[in-house]
Amino acid sequence: MFEKILIANRGEIALRIQRACRELGVKTVVVYSEADKEAKYVRLADEAVCIGPAPSNLSYLNMPALISAAEVTDAEAIHPGYGFLSENADFCERVERSGFTFIGPRAETIRMMGDKVTAKQTMIKTGVPCVPGSDGALPDDPKEIVKIARQVGYPVIIKAAGGGGGRGMRVVHTEAALINAVNMTREEAGRAFGNPQVYMEKFLENPRHIEIQVLADSFRNAVWLGERDCSMQRRHQKVIEEAPAPNIARRLLDRIGDRCADACKKMGYVGAGTFEFLYENNEFYFIEMNTRVQVEHPVSELITGVDIVKEQIRIAAGERLAFKQRDIQLRGHAIECRINAEDPFKFVPSPGRITSWHPPGGPGVRVDSHVYDGYFVPPHYDSMIGKVITHGPDRDTAIRRMRNALAEMVVEGIKTNIPLHRELMVDGNFVEGGTSIHYLEERLAEKAQTKAGATNGS
Ligand code: ADP
Repeated sequence: MFEKILIANRGEIALRIQRACRELGVKTVVVYSEADKEAKYVRLADEAVCIGPAPSNLSYLNMPALISAAEVTDAEAIHPGYGFLSENADFCERVERSGFTFIGPRAETIRMMGDKVTAKQTMIKTGVPCVPGSDGALPDDPKEIVKIARQVGYPVIIKAAGGGGGRGMRVVHTEAALINAVNMTREEAGRAFGNPQVYMEKFLENPRHIEIQVLADSFRNAVWLGERDCSMQRRHQKVIEEAPAPNIARRLLDRIGDRCADACKKMGYVGAGTFEFLYENNEFYFIEMNTRVQVEHPVSELITGVDIVKEQIRIAAGERLAFKQRDIQLRGHAIECRINAEDPFKFVPSPGRITSWHPPGGPGVRVDSHVYDGYFVPPHYDSMIGKVITHGPDRDTAIRRMRNALAEMVVEGIKTNIPLHRELMVDGNFVEGGTSIHYLEERLAEKAQTKAGATNGS
């Protein structure tokens, strides 16, 4: 096992990784920007190094500063968390070349999955079902593109090979709009991702987002830790996640999960990862793989009892997985609400000082958060200030516990999206389970309309 790990991240995940390290008896180094110097996890770490001013590109994305911090503190490995440099193959390479272990997959795997065209080709080769579409990147010849679209069938979606974060995509409903859309997406992709390649997929009208969590060691052992349903999204950002996925036949989930674990073995995947799928009409369609720990990992931890962050570290230290697929039993149901510092219905970020912080507790309640009474939420980063996760023997109990938790929770001084979560936990369609990725936005639009109507009428 490593003696010391540097955590190249901030916020709740920096604290989460620290907790895993402590359980493993590993010393921690945290890095922080000038905006984060008061953070509690900075004080809790064994060592802390300031790596620059508040803007991420000068601190958490500053590769030389991160590597120097590891050098001066004699850390052996670097955990990238999620976001920031976690899926940056160049960073992974630089870390390894400087003599440290990158806690994650190999650079070539990250690079392959970062290019969605090669990622899809790898999935097809390893037997993971994908959305029907073009074989690889679209050719230049407009006639060929028209032909491909006719084969795929409208509506289609044009996606950038290098895209991410829900950007670089365009839905096309008619042949008349096709070539213009391809050209525009190419141009945008070239500018935003430095790669003008685009590909085409069938546009699925009303899918759910279902993902499979995997863990694989460097001896080609791989397991999957159940699935997560992350369909409750706004602008491609997940708001609520749960495990298992409600109202999908277990045998379908088992089949796709086994395929993912098998694909990991075939491609020699190492570390934790997530296969993301769209699910529609009893079929799963791969859309992308995340080669890192995800925000929503706790729901899988609660239903499997596996500590995903500890396993990531063990795998990076060269250990074998201590369990096999048959040892993974799914127990009960877990739900996660992401708590953001933002207006609950207008979604404007609401940074500032938290004057009162009362997290919930009780049976089956877990709160992963780095904030405290008096904490100042800096305006420079993601607005997530923590996650409330509940677990129970069944979905109904997990929902009831979440309602209680959200009712108990007090955050004052800033706005949060807790009121939205409270509404969603009593929403008939959510309670029934199985809403599509469009549900939340449709519901919000309806609510805005009703409100506007009420104002006009009065
Ligand atoms: P990113 O890396 O930018 O998140 P993804 O490929 O994961 O890109 O797609 C992001 C979102 O775009 C999906 O969650 C889904 O909402 C939508 N999307 C992507 N591909 C399709 C498709 N073929 N049909 C319908 N929606 C899609």
